Amino acid sequence: MAAADTLDIAAIRSQFPILERKVHGDKPLIYLDSAATTPKPQAVIDTIDAHYASGTANVHRAAHELSVEATEAYESARRRIGTFINATSSNEIIFTRSATEAVNLVAQSWAATTLQAGDEILVTEMEHHANIVPWQLLRERLGVTLKVIPMDDRGMLDMDACRSLVTDRTKLVSATWISNALGTVNPIESIISIAREAGAMTMVDATQALPHRPVDVQALGADFIVFSGHKMYGPTGIGCLWGRESILESMPPWQGGGDMIESVTFEKTTFNRLPWRFEAGTPHIAGAIGLGTAVDWLSEIGMPAIDARETSLVATLAERLDAIPRVLLVGHPTPRAAAVSFMVDGMHPHDVGMMLDQHGVAVRTGHHCAQPTMQHFDVPATVRASIGIFNDESDVDALDTALRRVIEVFG
Ligand SMILES: *Cc1c(COP(=O)(O)O)cnc(C)c1O
Repeated sequence: MAAADTLDIAAIRSQFPILERKVHGDKPLIYLDSAATTPKPQAVIDTIDAHYASGTANVHRAAHELSVEATEAYESARRRIGTFINATSSNEIIFTRSATEAVNLVAQSWAATTLQAGDEILVTEMEHHANIVPWQLLRERLGVTLKVIPMDDRGMLDMDACRSLVTDRTKLVSATWISNALGTVNPIESIISIAREAGAMTMVDATQALPHRPVDVQALGADFIVFSGHKMYGPTGIGCLWGRESILESMPPWQGGGDMIESVTFEKTTFNRLPWRFEAGTPHIAGAIGLGTAVDWLSEIGMPAIDARETSLVATLAERLDAIPRVLLVGHPTPRAAAVSFMVDGMHPHDVGMMLDQHGVAVRTGHHCAQPTMQHFDVPATVRASIGIFNDESDVDALDTALRRVIEVFG
């Protein structure tokens, strides 16, 4: 593990083959869109490649050597991901397709069988749609109520409102740790303790936390967390639900099929143990083992060092953008992690994004799957620059230069 000031960013950067490529002819790629998906380091690419080239086999079924190896690789990834977030047992790690699917698993298995009409679910105003829509679907089915912790114009939660919104009718508080649209780091420990004092269950959308800071589920005290492989240097199509073992044990299966059963007759099916009870069908084997390599890769750099380094770089990014005439930051959260949203006065965000792209600078424009956040700030979309551990000051310089040029040319 390295301290933040001894991280060799050039060496980290050189591990990402995609960062060598050029765009629009000869422009070096300046990648500032990790909040949408991170590039993949060579180690992750090699793991996936090796699995398909010399290790392809289905898991948990056959006696032959390749299948035994694939099963061991898949279950080893689960154990290492469990260790990465300090889970008590690898039984607490359920592989899903994505963070979105993990939220839907909790909604359809735990919540749909536990909650009743009139029960309340509390989310925040800055949620990703993945942590809004599953609860609205449940509201239609069960008549539960969805309540929202508001934020202020800095993009920070109103914690007094949080305290008064949590009542004895609150059955679940589900909050994002870090806003993908604004970069806000929420006081997640306080939210969890307020919820727990009222006897509510808690879920944390940790999708933007895992790539940027140490996460210890035992210290956190939540009941569930969800995250996505592709936002943390792993492959697409793989995500995780972590849940407390005792709660997962009590939950019914949500999808039926292979791998989640113990025995099937036409009269009766008995279900497999954790964690496989929630993994129906052939899983994304290459995705899981690729994510295993991604957490090894992150651990080797060291999450405290990543957190310290990125916190300083994102502060620089926000300051530099704020200093450009006609650039207006959307939200001024402290603390901030990894992302800065902004508008350019007189220009549509999509035009800004497309013109930056012509300079080789990849940023996101749009609502970032957080339309209520856009509504709060009364904008249809923003431009969002977001960083990963491979970014450095030269990327901030490149964005600064390109954006000034775009504004000048557009007039
Ligand atoms: C990306 C993201 C999600 C959804 O992740 P998927 O991989 O699309 O399922 C959920 N929450 C946050 C905060 C995100 O950034």
